[in-house]
Amino acid sequence: MADERLVEDYHRTTAGDRHLPEHIEVWDETLRDGEQMPGVHFSPEEKLRIAEALSDAGVSVLNAGIPVVSTEEARAVSLLAGAGLRAKVLAAGRTVATDVDAIIRSGARYAAIFVAASDVHLRYKLKMTQEAVLEASVRSVRQAKAAGLHVAFVTEDTTRAPFDFVERLYRAVLAEGADRLVIADTVGVMTPLTFRWYLREFARRVQPRDWSVHCHNDFGLAVANTLTALEEGVTSPQVCVNGLGERAGNASLEEVVMGLEVLYGVHTGMATEKLYGLSQLVEEIAGVPLPPNKALVGYNSFSHEAGIHTHGILQHTLTYEPLQPAMLGRERQMILGKHTGKAALVEKLKERHANPSDELLAQLLLRLKQAGESHGKEEIRRFLEEYRRIYARPGISDEEFWGLVDELGIRTERT
Ligand code: MN
Repeated sequence: MADERLVEDYHRTTAGDRHLPEHIEVWDETLRDGEQMPGVHFSPEEKLRIAEALSDAGVSVLNAGIPVVSTEEARAVSLLAGAGLRAKVLAAGRTVATDVDAIIRSGARYAAIFVAASDVHLRYKLKMTQEAVLEASVRSVRQAKAAGLHVAFVTEDTTRAPFDFVERLYRAVLAEGADRLVIADTVGVMTPLTFRWYLREFARRVQPRDWSVHCHNDFGLAVANTLTALEEGVTSPQVCVNGLGERAGNASLEEVVMGLEVLYGVHTGMATEKLYGLSQLVEEIAGVPLPPNKALVGYNSFSHEAGIHTHGILQHTLTYEPLQPAMLGRERQMILGKHTGKAALVEKLKERHANPSDELLAQLLLRLKQAGESHGKEEIRRFLEEYRRIYARPGISDEEFWGLVDELGIRTERT
């Protein structure tokens, strides 16, 4: 646990700028946005394993997927909706009648209906006018509400859309009974300051009671922006385990939750000690390895090698750790190598009750540093080569693709 007193001091100093909601509903997007990450796909059974772990860790809402995508995807959503999970199971769809039908048929009681709102999306992607978008949105929300669903209305690319249109759109769906409003920073262009301004303006114009944000990490600001949104009273942060998601990913579940718990002293209702297991499960099923220095769940987040640091940690863990690893279900690691100091060495020797003379200890330290400095890099080079080969271009390889084309007898020419 961080030094409670200091954190409370910060909290008091800045409390006037914070309007954290009384109850936060963590909304997980790992199975929808996370799965849209290039090269990632989950089978219905894999989705169920992740959903059970998410629910068990205490997320309030989980997006199971978009049932209209494929029959397998529809099966996955129905499987999760009928699994008796503690978390609310949500299904997503566009502002199209067939999509809403598929949500209704899936058995999920929670719907997220989305439509793009920015000029660039309307003109180049949807090829729709603002009036047509407004009409489709109203019609879809009405359809879902008539089926008795809880409806979250999501505008894609909200933060680059004309504010007057955003206001009109949300007022219209609220009038149809939309239960939750979702602001998406789809291409991650907000900063904590600009997002604060945006959300205050949104609150003034639309007066949402139940609202959510969906932040992308294109500039590495997804978590910071999400925490800012919570400070502005947003009730439901959308997150993905390990920060998975399109391009640079979404706000990471573990970073948002631990930020709230430790930095803000807010209880999220999550079983935080299950977060590391959840992260490892998703890493394994998604097949997306975490960088060692990933916040909170990377291999290094609670590892220490440097002499000054390990010496400090051995005296008191607060010297170089802002929170206890056990909070996330993890353990601290002391790494031996070039940067090791005497204190860590003495501590390590205790494992086998060894207590050598100062002279022997000095010799051992010298040998250890030499061993650390000459440690081979071959293994890691081979790993990197393989990693780059796989990740530079995930998904179906060119060879596989042209093989499929040939199988169907489609005529091609080499240019
Ligand atoms: Mn997204």
